[in-house]
Amino acid sequence: MEREYLIKPMLDESYKKVSHGQGVYLYDTAGKKYLDGSSGAVTCSIGHGVGEIVEAMVEQAREVSFVYRSQFSSYAAEGLAKKLAEMTPGDLNWTFLVNSGSEAIETAMKTAIQYYQEKNMPKKTKIISRWMSYHGITIGALSLSGYPERRFRFQQLLEANPVVSPAYCYRCPYGLKPSSCKAKCTGELETAIRRVGADHVAAFVAEPVVGAAGAAITPPEGYYEKIRDICDRNDILFIADEVMTGIGRTGKTLAMEHWGALPDIVALGKGLSAGYAPVAATIISDKVMRPIQQGSKLIMSGHTYSANPQSAAVSLAVLHYIEKNQLNTAASEKGKTLFKQLQKLQKKTEIIGDVRGKGLLIGIEFVMDQTSKQPFPKSYNLTSRVIKKAQQNGLLVYPSAAGIEGGDGDAILIAPPLTINDEELSELVQLFSKTIAEIE
Ligand code: PLP
Repeated sequence: MEREYLIKPMLDESYKKVSHGQGVYLYDTAGKKYLDGSSGAVTCSIGHGVGEIVEAMVEQAREVSFVYRSQFSSYAAEGLAKKLAEMTPGDLNWTFLVNSGSEAIETAMKTAIQYYQEKNMPKKTKIISRWMSYHGITIGALSLSGYPERRFRFQQLLEANPVVSPAYCYRCPYGLKPSSCKAKCTGELETAIRRVGADHVAAFVAEPVVGAAGAAITPPEGYYEKIRDICDRNDILFIADEVMTGIGRTGKTLAMEHWGALPDIVALGKGLSAGYAPVAATIISDKVMRPIQQGSKLIMSGHTYSANPQSAAVSLAVLHYIEKNQLNTAASEKGKTLFKQLQKLQKKTEIIGDVRGKGLLIGIEFVMDQTSKQPFPKSYNLTSRVIKKAQQNGLLVYPSAAGIEGGDGDAILIAPPLTINDEELSELVQLFSKTIAEIE
């Protein structure tokens, strides 16, 4: 056997090599075709092989591919920041460009702490997050993430940030119904702030719809309005981690636009370049920037590849493509169709406990039976069985987690490119249905 040089996700498994992609399909080097039912890691939202994006790449490369951020700005980076200010609501007008969702969250954390330093409140450093969340793999972002599998090896490096429960209606700890609960679970944030002391808390961070750690857990009506109110009353910033949900995935530019509350800082990634270049962004409101502009005048973050013109040009081309093809509307409409079809499948399939989500970000939680909602034993490895079986059947879906503590239950995310057509949607459901029927 040939020796290996590339570190792959699991060193003991043989991985398929991709040859090329077109539209919602990927093809491996053996010629097998896969329907990309999760846009990779919920990233490739405009599908594969879009010519316009390739043209934008080449055009920018002819001008300039790299400048160092502290020496020059570029038309591409400034154009992208302007476009994002136009697309995002409220006073979310300032963009800090980075290269990954984790970096966007790290920058959001630092900006929140710095905001209070500029206001002469240096004790406000704690960031409260929700258990069952994933904010990234770097140490700061991981310390906010309630994802046991990714944390346990590095526990000693992780900051002990306070955590609260997510709005997990399928397994509501209060036994309430989303239609009448009045978002009681937000009370946990009040309690956490009281315990730590508001004068020590800089921010609360949440994924509007939970991704990798909760299979599209979606809050009940009124949840974010209450969160916003609690943050305001306690002088705490609200950070929305829209790395997975942002840029059309749920049917709007920001998922937070579905609710009557806006964040002070937003992290974007994934769909921002739809996978065509490594780019992510921290969007900061005028409110947060003002004391920084009047104070130290710089945000203490940044990477060599921050504001890279090549990545910025690609991202800008992706945003234009999304707008031109009305992909926010498509996500919303196709999402409704897919949701209905998956609910139909749920009626016939005992192990599908819950179908949830928004737009084209849909989570499926598996249970042993729908009445008891009992999760499968961990040793059964249901999630990885489903993923592998789906792959054999030519369908790619994304692993997620479920269960009250997160990681105890089985779940997946279905999140195809927003460009998927009706025929391809039906094919997705048919391949998923076949996969579930074949799981022993
Ligand atoms: N935040 C959320 C909500 C995510 O889903 C992810 C990645 O899955 C991240 C942050 C981290 O992004 P990245 O993997 O680009 O560092």
